[in-house]
Amino acid sequence: MCDTLVSLTDDGPLFAKNSDRDANEAQVHRNLRTPTGRAYFRVVCVAVFAAETSDLSLLHALFYSHSGTDLETLISTDRGAQQDRIVGGSIRIAENMAADLGDRVRLSAVVNRIGQDDTGVSVVLRDGSAVTGSHVIVTLPPTLAGRLDYEPALPSWRDQLTQRLPAGSVIKAYAAYDEPFWRADGLNGQAASDRGRSRSPSTTPRPAGRPAS
Ligand SMILES: Cc1cc2nc3c(=O)[nH]c(=O)nc-3n(C[C@H](O)[C@H](O)[C@H](O)COP(=O)(O)OP(=O)(O)OC[C@H]3O[C@@H](n4cnc5c(N)ncnc54)[C@H](O)[C@@H]3O)c2cc1C
Repeated sequence: MCDTLVSLTDDGPLFAKNSDRDANEAQVHRNLRTPTGRAYFRVVCVAVFAAETSDLSLLHALFYSHSGTDLETLISTDRGAQQDRIVGGSIRIAENMAADLGDRVRLSAVVNRIGQDDTGVSVVLRDGSAVTGSHVIVTLPPTLAGRLDYEPALPSWRDQLTQRLPAGSVIKAYAAYDEPFWRADGLNGQAASDRGRSRSPSTTPRPAGRPAS
């Protein structure tokens, strides 16, 4: 279903905007005919986006799936998005980049407003100070980015989109075993359930690397 919809959105932005008006959940009902198929798609959606199908922008779901090749790749462990973890946690990426940037990184600097005019862009902080430049790249998650004050105001379609990209509310838990005992029974450790507390358990190998310094 997603492959078809992604190829349709490639036809142009008009279709993409129209399809986004339909709720993601409505697409599940329209395109998946069996209750089991719908239930499985919802479990996959929570596993990938950490959000319910009814909470997601369809356009965002399609963009995200396409960016990660396809849904199959996003949920797969073997050669998929669930295969690798970063030793020391993904915070290591930000910490190492910050170390390279040195004093240019300003911590505890809350942004309130972003203004743009013919001379460039200004970012106004909560303490009243401002940083200016020719461009600004906003890396906040969309919902938080939507809370900033923009001058001039962002287009209404952007405002609508950031209201439909909620952060998820799942809890992830890791269990470490001495050995993958389930393989002796011919099981790969993957499961999906539409009920209970553990909806999509999967397995990854134990870390073999060392944290980068
Ligand atoms: C439930 C859940 C589970 C996830 N599981 C995984 C996973 O298993 N693997 C994986 O790779 N990814 C996972 N993700 C995604 C991953 O957590 C996010 O993609 C990642 O944290 C995003 O990083 P970020 O820097 O964009 O945003 P964040 O980590 O949210 O950082 C945003 C920062 O901006 C700060 N901020 C907010 N407002 C302002 C402001 N006005 N001015 C200045 N600073 C501000 C916040 O304090 C925060 O420090 C998960 C996400 C969720 C919600």
